Amino acid sequence: MDTIFGIDLGTTNSSLAALRDGKPTIIPIDASGLVPSVVSLDPDSGEFIVGQRAKRRSILFPDYTVKSIKRLMGKDVKVHIGDQELTPEEISSKILHYIKTQGEEALKEPINRVVITVPAYFNDAQRRATIKAGEMAGLDVVRIINEPTAASLVYEGPAEAASGRQHILIYDLGGGTFDVSVLRIQGEVREVLSSRGNTQLGGDDFDRKLLTHVLDHLRIKEGVDLSKDQRAIARLSEAVEKAKIGLSTRPFVKILEPALAKRDGRPVHLDIEISRSTFESLIEEFIDSTFYEVKHALEEASLEPKDLNKVILVGGSSHIPAVIEGLKMTIESPPELAVDPELCVALGAAIQGGIMAGEIFDQILVDVAAHSLGIRAFGKEDDYLDARPDTFAPIIPRNTPIPVTRADVFRTMVENQKAVLIDVFQGEASRCSQNKSIGSFNMSLRPSPRHSDIVVEFSYDLDGIIHVVADQKGYDNRKEVTMSVRERGAGGVQTSITEDYLQRKAKKLLGMKGLSEDDPARRQLIEALDAYTEARASGVSEEDLETLEEDLLDAMEALEED
Ligand code: ADP
Ligand code: MG
Repeated sequence: MDTIFGIDLGTTNSSLAALRDGKPTIIPIDASGLVPSVVSLDPDSGEFIVGQRAKRRSILFPDYTVKSIKRLMGKDVKVHIGDQELTPEEISSKILHYIKTQGEEALKEPINRVVITVPAYFNDAQRRATIKAGEMAGLDVVRIINEPTAASLVYEGPAEAASGRQHILIYDLGGGTFDVSVLRIQGEVREVLSSRGNTQLGGDDFDRKLLTHVLDHLRIKEGVDLSKDQRAIARLSEAVEKAKIGLSTRPFVKILEPALAKRDGRPVHLDIEISRSTFESLIEEFIDSTFYEVKHALEEASLEPKDLNKVILVGGSSHIPAVIEGLKMTIESPPELAVDPELCVALGAAIQGGIMAGEIFDQILVDVAAHSLGIRAFGKEDDYLDARPDTFAPIIPRNTPIPVTRADVFRTMVENQKAVLIDVFQGEASRCSQNKSIGSFNMSLRPSPRHSDIVVEFSYDLDGIIHVVADQKGYDNRKEVTMSVRERGAGGVQTSITEDYLQRKAKKLLGMKGLSEDDPARRQLIEALDAYTEARASGVSEEDLETLEEDLLDAMEALEED
């Protein structure tokens, strides 16, 4: 049977997906799953260029390039591109045609029938224009579905949805648009209860803010005004977007752009470090306005935050930590992070295609961190005179798709602090003492002023390995330690901390004493060591562990005397 493919025809990026072996899968185009929704005319050949190449040309050849055509869908207008005039449907059809042909090339199979997604607020004319664009691209558009509905399919598969009524809020912050929708799912019916948003708000605005920040820096520090220099702007636009994306996982990002321009015959370089907090203050107003819309969407659906079963984050810009934090505060519950915020709309469209084609597919398995991971820090509630702080500062929040790398910044307490203890915990309690200890290490510090930055980075992978890097910023002083946390399904968490001193000593003893297999003292020690190792890994109470530790010490003593 012919596959029905799913296409997310986005304002900024588009993507193609299909069910493969029962799993919704992104078909890679343009070396990734994301195709920039940009069309550019090559004036020499008269050919249209689409995707990544077109995006690069957009700043150098603005008159020959069209971006964000989705905003004009359904309007009776013509768009100028070079010396040509095209309708919005025609421009969109270029994007769809590119996706079709590139996808066919990648898969070596024809792509004909498709499900295309549109924003929930699209009216009839906008939906019809989307179908027409598909037809012009040689596609058979079997269904148009709403983007939030598609996203919800990735999380609440048909089987899950069959059990009772659910309310889901979908927050979608993309490149140029913001949408929030509240959905009610009952059986097979997925209904949009309310939908609000701003068609002129998204990641492009954040890029613009950063660009202005960088241009100001160049004006003040280097005495050059590059705001009219198209080539410099083209390079800087790419650089600030990259920096913005970096700031979603790191507290600081450096931008280095050598030889941007010339001043008095000498090259001007850009060398700037941007902190997450600076970036957050630049975009605060924008993201606050989205939370306001979230409240309104809930009101329109006559729901309160507590009525929501799930909150799904969609769109590339929803990776931004301040967005996630702010939404948590607005919703009063931790939102579930989407599988892949940029790709889940296409994945959902592929599921819809699969349902229509009568294909059988698996319930989607998403690898996420089942528990938050973080470190011990001094918090507001900790008594500064108390020797031991107990505030848990999460670095990787629960439900974050893995593998993932996240970093956060902490500060020293006193001038010339000698060392920091990086004490790693897992859990959801706000106090470390109520969470599970994973491991710790000490890092000596170079002499530095009070409140110096210590960047702590966690990389967490599918095998449950956490790679921790502590970096005394600006002092060329780093320490890296690997710890392991193995997570087991419903049974909870299994932690295997690196062997402790006692375990190492017991093993050494066993190796040293060349005793026969059935020597009773040897057997006793093996059993005691196994029990102790098992207990440490499964996280028994401190008391039980102490008893086992004594047993182990006794067994070691007995063997030594043997
Ligand atoms: P759309 O739905 O508008 O087509 P996307 O969902 O693909 O757009 O989002 C694109 C936007 O997301 C761009 O502005 C891009 O810079 C931004 N973006 C992508 N990844 C990240 C990230 N990790 N952190 C912050 N912004 C990101
Ligand atoms: Mg989108």
